[in-house]
Amino acid sequence: MSQAVDAGQVGHLVKALRQVGEGHLVVITGAGISLASGIATFRGTDPDAIWQKDVTELGTFRYFQHDPVGSWRWYLSRFSQVLGAQPNAAHRALVDLERWQLQRGRFTLITQNVDTLHEDAGQQELVKVHGSANRIRCPREGCANGAPEGSLPRSDFDVEAFLARPETERLPHCPLCGDILRQHVLWFDEYYGEHRDYQWPRVQEAAWSADLMLFVGTSFSVGVTDLFLRQGLGRGIALLSIDPSDAAAPMAGLEVLNAKAEVLLPAVGRHLQG
Ligand SMILES: [Zn+2]
Repeated sequence: MSQAVDAGQVGHLVKALRQVGEGHLVVITGAGISLASGIATFRGTDPDAIWQKDVTELGTFRYFQHDPVGSWRWYLSRFSQVLGAQPNAAHRALVDLERWQLQRGRFTLITQNVDTLHEDAGQQELVKVHGSANRIRCPREGCANGAPEGSLPRSDFDVEAFLARPETERLPHCPLCGDILRQHVLWFDEYYGEHRDYQWPRVQEAAWSADLMLFVGTSFSVGVTDLFLRQGLGRGIALLSIDPSDAAAPMAGLEVLNAKAEVLLPAVGRHLQG
């Protein structure tokens, strides 16, 4: 695919963004935005989509309870790639877009990604609705290191011994109650409201108050995009999606810009600042 910027797409997006004015610009990002940082998509069609198999079974609390060693091995293999990655031009352009929009109105970025690339790039108005790869937490109900508010930095726990010999007793344990710690991510058999860090009330408010929704690199396969599409279509606001794949727009009312976000967004930023 060409890296060339499509001037028509740039002009179209610039116009839509300027029309938000004092309103609320809401950006929703998915795995596609981190692809250019070397992170394989959750279940995309790229050949490296390492989670394509069994993801809805492995990414569950049920699986963690049944086989904590297997759950941890799976996540550590995934997160070694995630936590070593660097933000790309699309992440940086969204920081510039936030700064630009906050001079006139509201801005919220909601990401489905658990990597840390948005915050590493400097994003401020950020909601990590699926949790974060750089934190872990206690699964025990009522423990202060777990839901609804608690979590711990992953970097506080050394997993080298576990990786060398994966056994239950070598897994990180809760300093308060001794339970085996879990990933601080939303699993398929869990709810958005389970942990404050997912900021579900803020997500709902953003869906209700958005004047423009800009989707970046999302495959529209998880619940949170349904909420935004439903709300956005119902209220008749502009819905734009930046997607490099050739997949057709899944529905009327959603306009797909067939482009790479790391190419299109910086070009849009140059026009907005200019
Ligand atoms: Zn605990």
